[in-house]
Amino acid sequence: MFKCPNCKNKSISKWSKFFLGPIRSIKCSQCGCRISIPYKSLYWMILYIIFAFVMLKSIIINQYKILVFILLTTIVIYLFYRFIPLVVKLERKDTEYKVQKRNNLLIGISCFLFTFLSIFIITKNNL
Ligand SMILES: [Zn+2]
Repeated sequence: MFKCPNCKNKSISKWSKFFLGPIRSIKCSQCGCRISIPYKSLYWMILYIIFAFVMLKSIIINQYKILVFILLTTIVIYLFYRFIPLVVKLERKDTEYKVQKRNNLLIGISCFLFTFLSIFIITKNNL
């Protein structure tokens, strides 16, 4: 079980964290607070997507490559699961709500641009 970032009770089950994304949120069974993971975690997802894109785009896919790919995917999922913190998802009535929403939007846009540019550069230079 994971600690709720609001009431500090161990109320978040392992599986619910596993299926959490920055957009998805769950309710703490103790305090009813909405819990999510930070938008910053998108940066890690993107690095992984770019890596996967580079790995899978080449025509030569051999057993060695597939093995490396599976191994790294497992490591990435584990690290993500282990180290991404849980955060309180603010509601409209909270004072910091607008700031959180704006920051999330900026992160979202920068992630999108970064992914798009990286894939464009990779494709263009045939890396
Ligand atoms: Zn709680």
